[in-house]
Amino acid sequence: MKVRILLIEDDPHIRRFLRAGLTSQGYDLLETDTGREGLALAASQVPDAILLDLGLPDMEGIEVIRNLREWSQVPIIILSARGQEREKVVNLDAGADDYLTKPFGMGELLARIRALLRRAAPGEEGQEQTFQLDRVTVDFEKRRVFRGQEEIHLTPMEYKLLLALIRHRGKVVTHRQLLKEVWGASHVNQQHYLRIFILNLRRKLEEDPTRPQYLITEPGVGYRLRDE
Ligand code: CA
Repeated sequence: MKVRILLIEDDPHIRRFLRAGLTSQGYDLLETDTGREGLALAASQVPDAILLDLGLPDMEGIEVIRNLREWSQVPIIILSARGQEREKVVNLDAGADDYLTKPFGMGELLARIRALLRRAAPGEEGQEQTFQLDRVTVDFEKRRVFRGQEEIHLTPMEYKLLLALIRHRGKVVTHRQLLKEVWGASHVNQQHYLRIFILNLRRKLEEDPTRPQYLITEPGVGYRLRDE
């Protein structure tokens, strides 16, 4: 079965670039330039992932996301213009899964798609006993974390934050989403908590905390745990 991607984008140059790259990788590509038709295709063709431009001729990308999220959990990657940090955050909080800033490379897009499809694979959640990323291993059952052979001691909150990042591995998570998942809905504006705990996690997990290789900062948006 081919993986089916729905592209909702009105720029013909980006369409051509994505069509060439995605079909050459064996993806089945559906395309439209309007939000209205995009929603209809999402319902009738059930794509495995959606690439969504934020500025469409008939509606804003965020309206497409809100509509989709009423009835679908399909992974959504936003294609946004440079410098729209605030907009990215709002769209991610509305239910988009990740974003790419134009212009982006095909390798980067393919990596994002793979990460989203891996997480969306049925039956994967809850069956894994360990998580591994380079030298870092997390044993979920025993609640133990290792860097190489050395055991790393995390506080309960640090561990909870790490688990949240692992749940979303490979994709960006906004400050607000992380604060909500780890500290609860009443803490969504307390970004300073997050900054401190991320610094602590980096100090414990990264080889060089000043040049993080695992816990990546997405400026103005949030954090991403690398997964490949
Ligand atoms: Ca556009």
